[in-house]
Amino acid sequence: YYMSSEIEKNISTMEEEQEKLELAVNKLRGLDEQQKQFIGNVTHEFKTPLTVIMAYLELIEMYSDDPELWEDAKENIQKETNRLVKMVEKILHLATIEKYDFESQMEQVEVKKILEELCERIRIKAQKYGLRLDTDLESAVIWADQENLTHIFINLLDNAIKYNEPHGKIVVKSYVDHQRVWIQVSDTGIGIPLEMKEKVFEPFYTVNKDRSKEFGGTGLGLALVKKLVENQAGTIHLIETEGKGTTICVSFPLYTDEHVQGSIHDES
Ligand code: ADP
Repeated sequence: YYMSSEIEKNISTMEEEQEKLELAVNKLRGLDEQQKQFIGNVTHEFKTPLTVIMAYLELIEMYSDDPELWEDAKENIQKETNRLVKMVEKILHLATIEKYDFESQMEQVEVKKILEELCERIRIKAQKYGLRLDTDLESAVIWADQENLTHIFINLLDNAIKYNEPHGKIVVKSYVDHQRVWIQVSDTGIGIPLEMKEKVFEPFYTVNKDRSKEFGGTGLGLALVKKLVENQAGTIHLIETEGKGTTICVSFPLYTDEHVQGSIHDES
């Protein structure tokens, strides 16, 4: 009897291990697929602007005395080059976060203060949209990297400007619930269909390619934002907006003593 129960235990342990292994292999396979797709996308996204640039260069060579063509070429080459530069920057940033996430400078951050600073920074650009900060956080503190938070909210606010309607509004709302700080960035713009709520966070995904391109978009902003949020124990979702427009909701755990205990004590 003793033997058989011992064997049974071993078998169930082995089964558990096998399950874990299968899960790990599946995860690796998934990653591989994702990586393949990513490389395919990068190749495609780089080819498009390069083709435009090369086509214009050829045209200029053929019709070098057409001033209108020069103007047109200058504008388009500049636009495509800017997009390429932005894309390279964002791809490098994405790759860096994936490999070196431990380099974040985690510290206590007063959320209300940083939101006020960021709204101030973008106020002129958002002037048309009556950017409003609606916060009932008095001194809520989270454990985060200030530079990452800046990237996250400047990206979200930039999108709220880019995809807004001419007389649209932007509201940033924040509150504490369930030991987390919640921050919602809402606009009254063209909106994102809710069935795309997962897809918009994938690299290179754009709902409306033309509108995105018009503003030098790359489809990498939200993928970057999601990585940065999740690196700081945060969550990010597209949620339903009252009326029309887009609302992106981000949350971070409130700071507790455990955050400091769990990290290296280099301040003492
Ligand atoms: P992009 O550089 O194209 O703006 P993002 O990764 O920031 O890329 O966003 C992905 C796509 O999600 C955008 O191309 C756009 O279609 C959509 N999107 C993002 N934010 C908004 C918003 N506030 N309102 C409407 N659409 C948005």
